[in-house]
Amino acid sequence: MFSYRHGFHAGNHADVLKHMVLIAVLKHLTAKPTALTVIDTHAGAGLYRLDSDFAGTSGEAADGYLKLAASPTAAAASPLIADYLALVAGFNPSGKLKIYPGSPFVAQAVLRDEARDRLRLFELHPTDSKALAGHIEQIEAKRMVSMERADGFESLRKLLPPPSRRALVLMDPSYEIKTDYARVAAVVQEALTRFATGTYMVWYPVIPRPEAHSLPKRLKTLANQAGKPWLHATLNIGQSEARAKALPGDDAPRPGLTASGVFLVNPPHTLKPALKEALPQLVEALGRGRGQGQVLEAS
Ligand code: SAM
Repeated sequence: MFSYRHGFHAGNHADVLKHMVLIAVLKHLTAKPTALTVIDTHAGAGLYRLDSDFAGTSGEAADGYLKLAASPTAAAASPLIADYLALVAGFNPSGKLKIYPGSPFVAQAVLRDEARDRLRLFELHPTDSKALAGHIEQIEAKRMVSMERADGFESLRKLLPPPSRRALVLMDPSYEIKTDYARVAAVVQEALTRFATGTYMVWYPVIPRPEAHSLPKRLKTLANQAGKPWLHATLNIGQSEARAKALPGDDAPRPGLTASGVFLVNPPHTLKPALKEALPQLVEALGRGRGQGQVLEAS
């Protein structure tokens, strides 16, 4: 526990998929004037430096956000990708890409102070929760944001249903402990009984592990049993050429995570057609070779 630090991964292909979808969902939900509550159960540190030691060590943004921003796709991007690139660019007004926003700041950038939207954040890591609290202090409209160093799964219980009766719950654990997979499914199941009309968004890594493989299937079953619509999207950037050609013993780059997925219950009806356009563009911009591709399915 606590060996995961999102700073090593900020802006990677998984963040691109997750944050692009998050923006699309939030833009849809904030099109109505009624107040919206966003609950981010696993918030991370909030803001990341792309030139930090963390980011430099792993270089994951180079195969994610930075690659996309520099690609020909960026110039003719679909609306979802264009919105995502514009939002991140807003954190880098000098034009130099130095800052990458995590989910709390992605959400905060879309939420509306005047509509009394609320952002509830949970982060357990001692250092990252402190960093997050410090970053929130800098926000002008900070009354819309509250943050606790607490277990996001447990805390969600107390918050559903929200007073506004309109909410998006983002669940983005690090899956450091394999029980996280079962916990996500159990929490979604319980949340749907407390607040059936909420939008739920779960991120998960596509890795050769039975728990990871079965999570989207379990979520599909839960949503179908509750009679709620769902959407499932994955992005696989494939294995890098250097890795694919490496012989045993070669000093090739470590494979790292090549694919991830998002699963939504009660997604906006606009999301599927928008992703149908955006996902192939992401594969074109970020694909590295063997295994690259995407999946988009919905009920
Ligand atoms: N959502 C963030 C974003 O998109 O920028 C990234 C979150 S990162 C993948 C997962 C975070 O969850 C880590 O910072 C980790 O410390 C934190 N964490 C792990 N278990 C937790 C729990 N039970 N409750 C709250 N936070 C937890």
